[in-house]
Amino acid sequence: MKALTVARADGQARLATLQTGHGLVETPVFMPVGTQGTVKAILHRDLTEMGVRMVLANAYHLYLRPGDALIRDMGGIQRFAGWDGAVLTDSGGYQIFSLGVLRKIQEEGVTFQSHIDGSKHFLSPERIVEVQEHIGADVCMCLDECVPYPSSYEYTSGSVDLTTRWATRCRTAKNGSSLLFGIVQGGMYADLRLRSARDLLELDFDGYALGGFSVGEPKGVMWEMVDAVMGHLPWDKPRYLMGLGFPEDIVEGVRKGVDMFDCVIPTRHARNGSLFTGTGRINIKHARYGRDERPIDEDCGCSTCARFSRAYLRHLFVARELSSYYLNTVHNLFFYTKLMEEIRAAIRGGRFEQFYRDFTLKWKGGELHNGSSVCNG
Ligand SMILES: [Zn+2]
Repeated sequence: MKALTVARADGQARLATLQTGHGLVETPVFMPVGTQGTVKAILHRDLTEMGVRMVLANAYHLYLRPGDALIRDMGGIQRFAGWDGAVLTDSGGYQIFSLGVLRKIQEEGVTFQSHIDGSKHFLSPERIVEVQEHIGADVCMCLDECVPYPSSYEYTSGSVDLTTRWATRCRTAKNGSSLLFGIVQGGMYADLRLRSARDLLELDFDGYALGGFSVGEPKGVMWEMVDAVMGHLPWDKPRYLMGLGFPEDIVEGVRKGVDMFDCVIPTRHARNGSLFTGTGRINIKHARYGRDERPIDEDCGCSTCARFSRAYLRHLFVARELSSYYLNTVHNLFFYTKLMEEIRAAIRGGRFEQFYRDFTLKWKGGELHNGSSVCNG
């Protein structure tokens, strides 16, 4: 079955639909991160209302708690979590490799210690696929090795080969009707990225992800790596840039032909009081908003902006009221959802380049009134 139907291209940017086990998803799409089977501080009902059709869940976290067999027995993640839309599960590679000394990589798979209770676990590529199938993901990811930055050429080269061998085993292990994506690695070496992509293409995955970014590399280097690979990926299969990013990253990625994005930025930033507006971010904790009657963003249209002033939202944030997390998250995810709608409309209208130029001109990126940076990722 062909998963992706490209309806329209505008330069390298593409408007398409992804066919999943839980409905059609229009791309380019941003998937909110629901690590534990819930997007933090918001309800699935709110996501549906704002037009979110696909979320990300994390196989590593769900495997550890409550366990993939439990989710399978409860009818799969959608039924368990009361979510009607599509789910993509991250294989957990990134999380496992982030454990540092707590994990060991071998040909057979990865051994690691749970971050929850210190218990020891072993996951093979085959088991990773089974975990995701038990969870009931519509899109599963292969186990990959995410190398730290910087890593030597020799180490990264060996790692690419291991990721390919693991991908081969994942491909063979795939059992159900879920889509399975291969993950292009290769660190910050363009030739290794290309080799990784070519090796994975031979395995004929349902889609291709670019992984191993946001590990501390300069942004320019990351885009060079994306450029090295994008032209070699098949036109008729989805392309997913994992773990990115800020609105400017998404707009840039779409321009390079990326279809799918996920990132904790809108939700994590919301909980830190960092809120997106049409020109950049503001931090609601600032005293200057204490008597500000305006909504976060006058052009927003979310339920938070419809009812609440910056002054009230600042009060809730400073008082650490739980509703602050909810109201801020509603706004930031609405902002991302609307951004993706605008991107798709621009591609549909054949005016994506104009959209890109306008966005680049007005977008100031980081926090607008405040020098302190909020951590990435
Ligand atoms: Zn809003």
